[in-house]
Amino acid sequence: MIKGNRFQEKYHFLEQYFGYKHFRPGQEEIIDSILSGHDVLAVMPTGAGKSLCYQVPALMLSGVTLVISPLISLMKDQVNALTSMGIRAAYLNRSLSMALYNKALDNMAHGVYKIIYVAPERLVSEQFVAVCQSLEISLIAIDEAHCVSQWGQDFRPGYLNIARFIQRLPQRPVIGAFTATATEDVKADIIGLLQLNNPLALTTGFDRPNLFFSVMRPDSKPITLLKLVRERDNQTGIVYCATRKRVEEICDFLCEKGFSATRYHAGLTDDERLKNQDDFVYDRKRIMVATNAFGMGVDKSDVRFVIHYNMPKNLESYYQEAGRAGRDGEDSDCILLFGLQDIATARYFIENAEPNSEMTPAQYAAFKQKEGERLQQMISYCKTEGCLRAFMLQYFGDEAEERCDKCSNCKTSFKTVDVTVEAQKILSCIVRTKERFGAQLICDVLMGRESQKVISFGLQSQTTYGILKDVKRAQLKSLIESLEAQGYIEYLGTGRPVLKVTESGWLVLKGKVQVQSREALQTRTTAKPEKADVNEELFRELQAVRSEIAQQRGVPAYVIFSDATLRSMCQRLPLTDEEFLSISGVGETKRKLYGERFINVIRMNYPKKGGKMPFKITGEQLRGFEYSDEPIYASEIANRINALVVNPTRKKLAAQDITNWLVSVNLLETVKMNDRILKLPTEKGLQRGMLRQYRENENGAYYLVLYERQAQEFIIGHMTEIMHHSALNRLKAYEINDKIFQA
Ligand code: ADP
Ligand code: MG
Ligand code: ZN
Repeated sequence: MIKGNRFQEKYHFLEQYFGYKHFRPGQEEIIDSILSGHDVLAVMPTGAGKSLCYQVPALMLSGVTLVISPLISLMKDQVNALTSMGIRAAYLNRSLSMALYNKALDNMAHGVYKIIYVAPERLVSEQFVAVCQSLEISLIAIDEAHCVSQWGQDFRPGYLNIARFIQRLPQRPVIGAFTATATEDVKADIIGLLQLNNPLALTTGFDRPNLFFSVMRPDSKPITLLKLVRERDNQTGIVYCATRKRVEEICDFLCEKGFSATRYHAGLTDDERLKNQDDFVYDRKRIMVATNAFGMGVDKSDVRFVIHYNMPKNLESYYQEAGRAGRDGEDSDCILLFGLQDIATARYFIENAEPNSEMTPAQYAAFKQKEGERLQQMISYCKTEGCLRAFMLQYFGDEAEERCDKCSNCKTSFKTVDVTVEAQKILSCIVRTKERFGAQLICDVLMGRESQKVISFGLQSQTTYGILKDVKRAQLKSLIESLEAQGYIEYLGTGRPVLKVTESGWLVLKGKVQVQSREALQTRTTAKPEKADVNEELFRELQAVRSEIAQQRGVPAYVIFSDATLRSMCQRLPLTDEEFLSISGVGETKRKLYGERFINVIRMNYPKKGGKMPFKITGEQLRGFEYSDEPIYASEIANRINALVVNPTRKKLAAQDITNWLVSVNLLETVKMNDRILKLPTEKGLQRGMLRQYRENENGAYYLVLYERQAQEFIIGHMTEIMHHSALNRLKAYEINDKIFQA
């Protein structure tokens, strides 16, 4: 009975506060489990919506929910997001001043908050524990729960205090542990060290259907990067580099080319890191160039692309970093720029990894061995000609279709050609030069180039010298890559790797195997269709309103509404409160706070069959308005304004638009005089510089209204209101017409 009610109830909370209609995979089971008092261990990929799994129960349970998170920077944003949905929440960590901390603690003791975020260090503060002991705590949610395990890279000693803290509470609350990455070892650690009680262990699939995966092997990474960020004009993205030095170079490079970029790595001061991160999160900078130090604790949901300038050292890191794109569920691109040098760099990092102080030498050796294997898989991902998504999902133990149709390999159209003869020539050149050289020199020899190295090694006398002189270098290189991808040759050694023929390569040389190569005809690196399917102008305007509101409230833009929510507004064009509320991502509180401002913008861009769009002018354009020192008529003001904009798809401003608005703010009033309806200045209007001008004709006396400079300034200063007012009237007129037509 109670369960049945709660089942309904959680939908109500989902809709009322978060503005969503449906739960995502896994969320419902987890929430049900928590509500029935059963611990949970949830492993869900980044962006799957873990927060909601504890936030919805937090609203429904009678007591307080504590959320333990290692990421101080994230707490503020999460609390902002909750507050803006009308949920009472706070955070307690060392970023607060003493006074603020005490205030928050006091509020907490008085039951002001429903959800409280704390850093694990808090759990050993006696003052904090005392408050917790006096409260009803219904749920403890442990975010990034893998931090409790020493096996992972994010081990946080503070997490080891959690179990002891829970024991000290008078009543054991339900415990929910959440993480995006957990191997079996880590899962066992989480259950053991957090003392979860026979938890519901739920792992949702790793697939992120909205992400488009690409691997490119560019001849020039800087040029390719430039092209990629140019194509993604106005989008927010992250560029990951392997080293601090590279981060500096690339960030400088992008800035020089006029892009709005900032950087993040462990070599910067705390202050600068924080500032740069904020610039990115609050959309003051569009591109973040960073090492892998960046990302944890950044929940920015509208990251549209993640480009890896270098290959990471394993697929776990890659998927985690690339997965920071598209948390809002919108199409986003994950592009990896692969170069052979990346392999050497990754090997170097593994060789020189600091041993964890807890590891025995044997464990350390095993760790390195494991890291080497993982690197090998990462390399295979870069080289595979099969579906990238399938490769990744299989690596993580998920089922996968053979093709996803949403990765660069699936989306590249190939032409298969027989290249056995060329392959034999290449292989033979490698063998005859004694497997001492890399691709560059092999190409030189095959093409018959007299490069310095060819001469100094005396390679002109080789029988293979010049046997492929009609082939272009780029083609030859991609042929060599293809042979490598198919396992006929391999690179050996670090630093300057040399090419070696493998066993299957020898079969080719002996004529026992035919070689096929796929030539890419066209490669795609994005899921975006060529033409946008929503009104881009409206989308930009909604974005502008969103960033205005975000700035006023001092929160990141995505906390107000996600891109997905704005797009949905563009498609559905809500005009009433009710329609606005029905947009996914709009809850009751947000509707009340922001509905009007967004609806105003939508009204301004609302298309109607057979009619033009409402009049519109920007503040920039309006700056050209020529004021008259003599009093002028409203029609003259309208003329001067219309002279500033040319837009054939929109209506012109009419004198009536101005005077109707002036009536609505009580500066003019409608008066009947000799069978005429006149709009004449009120007392207030007279004070604002509106004049009555006496006129007479055969029908009798009447007045015209003139506007002094002061009144002109007032009108220009309120142009936005005038536009919105006229757009609203236009829709009302349509509605009346519609009704007349229907009748
Ligand atoms: P995670 O912590 O798993 O990486 P988040 O909790 O930050 O993911 O959620 C990612 C995004 O998904 C957020 O913008 C959130 O509002 C959105 N989201 C979560 N659940 C739903 C849902 N049921 N419907 C629509 N959007 C959702
Ligand atoms: Mg999260
Ligand atoms: Zn694919």
